[in-house]
Amino acid sequence: MDMGLRGKTALVTAGSKGLGKGCAMALAAEGVNLVITARGAEALTRTAEELRSTYGVTVHTVVGDITSEAGRAAALAACPTPDILVNNAGGPPPGDFREWDREAWVNAVDANMITPILLIRSVVDGMIARRFGRIVNITSGSVKFPIPELGLSNGARAGLTGFIAGLSRTTVKHNVTINGLLPGPFDTDRLRANFEFNAKKSGKSAADLRAARAASNPAGRFGTVEEFGATCAFLCSVHAGFITGQNLLMDGGAYPGTFG
Ligand code: NAP
Repeated sequence: MDMGLRGKTALVTAGSKGLGKGCAMALAAEGVNLVITARGAEALTRTAEELRSTYGVTVHTVVGDITSEAGRAAALAACPTPDILVNNAGGPPPGDFREWDREAWVNAVDANMITPILLIRSVVDGMIARRFGRIVNITSGSVKFPIPELGLSNGARAGLTGFIAGLSRTTVKHNVTINGLLPGPFDTDRLRANFEFNAKKSGKSAADLRAARAASNPAGRFGTVEEFGATCAFLCSVHAGFITGQNLLMDGGAYPGTFG
């Protein structure tokens, strides 16, 4: 299926690795020119080169922390009028809420709720004026099934999801959609780091923990960044203009509800 995106421009934040990179790759495969951001220059440069050489699209990189004002300003300076915005950033750390002070909460809300909202605020009116816009927020399955030790993520991402539920109904008549893409377990550096962290705590090996977690998923495996990216590209396509305010869970069926 032709997604109808050739020649469009996307800003993918936190796009040098993992799920953000998966989205950038899938959009580039559809002929979308990209601005991708990350804090580390090395992986970002490598990913940009991979995107250019594989798909022949234009790719600009912006090094910076997207959760900071300077990082957002630099990303928007490089890409002031995107047709597509994929909002992504690292997730907050795990822990017990008794250990989290005000600063921990403010940081989580800043990174995983306010940052995507401010980026949307900067680009959405241009999208409305041009009568095309696709915004995808990478959140987490924890929006639907809270994970106790990820309380900072559960809370901040639920705040974003609630806000978007309202906004997305006001933009769709201008052909600007906003949706959440909710990863369950995907095989990325972040997931690998979680197994290393839990291995140290439990005394089991990271490989054993990983195998057990994969086996416990109804799909018997983790998701791939290619699957995640392809779904993102579809949500960004010209065919998805009637889909807005949705939260699409990609978890291999782990969430046990009758309705998704
Ligand atoms: P990942 O493999 O660790 O990749 C994270 C990417 O984001 C890297 O490119 C990283 O580059 C960049 N990044 C992180 N913080 C950033 C910041 N403040 N500013 C700019 N770039 C930043 O992680 P992932 O698995 O793709 O996860 C992406 C998001 O999905 C996270 O919020 C995570 O919590 C969420 N999630 C993932 C899973 C999963 O199974 N993988 C499940 C649920 C939710 P630099 O480090 O160089 O900045």
